[in-house]
Amino acid sequence: MIAAVVVDVPSGSVNKTFDYKVPPELENWAEPGMRVIIPFGPRKLQGFILAVKQSSSVKGIKNITEILDPLPVLTPELIDLGQWLAENTLSFYITAYQAMLPAAMKATYEKFFTVLRAEMLSSEVSVLFSASGELSLNEVTNNHVHLLKELQELTKTGVLDVVYKVKDKANKKKVKFVSLADKTEAEELLKQNGKRAEKQKAVISELLSRPPGEYSLQEILHETGASLSSVQSLFKKGVIYMEEKEVYRDPFQGRNIKQTEPLPLTENQQNAITPILDSIENNEHQTILVHGVTGSGKTEIYLQSIQSVLDRGKEAIVLVPEISLTPQMVNRFKGRFGSSVAVLHSALSIGEKYDEWRKILRKEVSVVVGARSAVFAPFENLGIVIIDEEHESSYKQEDHPRYHARDVAIWRGKYHSCPIVLGSATPALETYARAQKGRYQLAELSSRVHSNPMPEVTIVDMRDELKNGNRSMFSNELMEKLKAGIEKGEQSVLFLNRRGYASFILCRDCGYVAQCPHCDISLTYHKRYGELKCHYCGYKEITPSACPSCSSEHIRFFGTGTQKVEEELAKVLPEARVIRMDVDTTSKKGSHERLLTAFGDGEADILLGTQMIAKGLDFPKVTLVGVLAADTMLHLPDFRASEKTFQLLTQVSGRAGRHELEGKVIVQGYDVEHYSIQLASQHDYLSFYNHEMKTRKLHQYPPFYYLGLLTFSHLELMQVVEASEKAASFLSKRLSPDSLLLGPVTSPIARVKDRYRYQVMIKYKNEPELRNWFEEIIAHFQKDKSIKDLQITGELNAQTLM
Ligand code: ADP
Ligand code: ZN
Ligand code: ZN
Repeated sequence: MIAAVVVDVPSGSVNKTFDYKVPPELENWAEPGMRVIIPFGPRKLQGFILAVKQSSSVKGIKNITEILDPLPVLTPELIDLGQWLAENTLSFYITAYQAMLPAAMKATYEKFFTVLRAEMLSSEVSVLFSASGELSLNEVTNNHVHLLKELQELTKTGVLDVVYKVKDKANKKKVKFVSLADKTEAEELLKQNGKRAEKQKAVISELLSRPPGEYSLQEILHETGASLSSVQSLFKKGVIYMEEKEVYRDPFQGRNIKQTEPLPLTENQQNAITPILDSIENNEHQTILVHGVTGSGKTEIYLQSIQSVLDRGKEAIVLVPEISLTPQMVNRFKGRFGSSVAVLHSALSIGEKYDEWRKILRKEVSVVVGARSAVFAPFENLGIVIIDEEHESSYKQEDHPRYHARDVAIWRGKYHSCPIVLGSATPALETYARAQKGRYQLAELSSRVHSNPMPEVTIVDMRDELKNGNRSMFSNELMEKLKAGIEKGEQSVLFLNRRGYASFILCRDCGYVAQCPHCDISLTYHKRYGELKCHYCGYKEITPSACPSCSSEHIRFFGTGTQKVEEELAKVLPEARVIRMDVDTTSKKGSHERLLTAFGDGEADILLGTQMIAKGLDFPKVTLVGVLAADTMLHLPDFRASEKTFQLLTQVSGRAGRHELEGKVIVQGYDVEHYSIQLASQHDYLSFYNHEMKTRKLHQYPPFYYLGLLTFSHLELMQVVEASEKAASFLSKRLSPDSLLLGPVTSPIARVKDRYRYQVMIKYKNEPELRNWFEEIIAHFQKDKSIKDLQITGELNAQTLM
């Protein structure tokens, strides 16, 4: 038997399968989708069996060394999907397959010295080797560096050999359990006197007081204060059993989740769920966009759609953006489907993620709630994929393989003939455009479930505040409302949009922001050169010292942060209790949740934070939402800046007045006339969509054009310039007349880790050969030995140019 294996070497020259012999004793075991260890050159590597066959045309093939999995970890579907993924994201096959599995299953390699001729070793070296004649390179570099040279020499002269070993990080967690072995003997022991046995008696009484069964050793030790040695003596006496067992690491252990029942749907919800249920019923793939304002009951639609899928014995995947994957969110699914839910979250440890993933593989769960990569959950009977907040940029992986979870979901939906549900209050422009064209079905939910009104939004122009002598970062109205909230015992959320700070120039008097004359995009301030620069076309100018529009000298680059806001709050509103949430206060595991719980329990009046508080929060006592610097993101050199601003403001506003109390939103900024801010305050998605579509059409951006992007990086500037120019000229000869070639120009982030970056952009509608041309370019420079270490990445549908 022959196995075709992709090996763990991410390189163009080995981006294919290699044939290996399956030794006879493994023939009944080997199956496509299993991880194996194979010899590759001088090394041992991990790989995946993609296919098995009877013969090979290759001569002198080697044996598979070891099979790592008892059952395939890649289903036949995932094997196909990986191939498609690699080809469409211009990634290596091995990278695509690894992206589908939990990190714990990715191999790490360790180098070992082994002894070939023991008699040639000095005694100093000889003692370092273990009984099995091995010594890890790690051990040498950590503790015996002075011997490294000698070991290398010995290797060259054939006294030692170097082998690579694959380490599997996929450890299963083992826990010790104890139980009573002999009840009468235990009771006997309790009657005995003697101080020594005090703790042993405590253990016995504890076990006797419980219903017969096994209990975790750790728990018993904790309850009784006994030491491990007391328990061990009981074990030796034969009074108790002690056994080690494999357990799942359960991040949600000990949490009591209230069971919920399906709610009778409103008429709106009924209409929205119908196409989903039809698709499930008819086993027919459909992509359905559920466009519903915040609080319109989308989640209840998800839950009941999943129920229908489970009733048919099928499985469901729910994707939520990383930052909304809060306990509140997860509990809504666990509350309905209990222990059949697995959660895949990046905040889980590698081991916890591995455990959750194995529950899926073993079919112990039928619902997965998770962030982007959960779209690869190895279900074999998939009945639905739901993508909540489908517009979120975190669904696109900005590293190899550069996939979008939405595309992967739709691929799987076609494979399983099942619905893909995209939900959002502010769908991505691409998605809404497809729904309007009829490629997706559109389900609209235009009002909130309890017909609570949408919160009233007031926009405050901070230029006016400045004119009236208010130099603080809070408008008078916001200040008043914050105070009133504290007096009434209600809560407020203050949101600071931090992205895009300090990178653009703003006139504090007239709101002027320097823009590129050719691109309609704000210029980025380069402190080092005192320049303003366009990241799209390369245009630049000297930073002005006075405002070109009103001659004011209050022109400067902008910068503030949550910490500064907190300090100022303490000055102007000393009575307020504030919880601050940003990357600094939430870096520790569990702190995110702890801060939110504290706020929910009323331990603070104001929750102050960045992007991470924009989503999913649902606190009944929040009546006021304040947005500081709503316009900062508008000035990012990003064609999605308006869209992102609209989405964010809509999200944040949705945090107010979700329950009985009415909500109020105050939005502050300098450039507040911008349509994205105005239309967000009116909760008017459709007008925003129409306006933004016109802008995109005018400037030839998605969804009217796809963006192909080739990025070059090298330590030497000349190398990137030359290579990118060559690539541009190669492409210009081939592109159809309808496509646009832009560049080469420096990438928006011009240097990363000392490497210069240049990019070539192609705006295209239909360019079926583009993928091949990108591959040709990448392969050309890989072969070109005169340029070493040039890195090229290609993307056919770039989401951002940043
Ligand atoms: P969305 O996901 O669109 O923001 P949710 O699903 O969170 O909206 O619904 C908002 C609130 O309305 C939640 O508290 C939810 O429990 C409640 N809700 C949803 N559907 C119904 C219904 N059919 N009947 C009563 N309450 C509902
Ligand atoms: Zn000005
Ligand atoms: Zn420009």
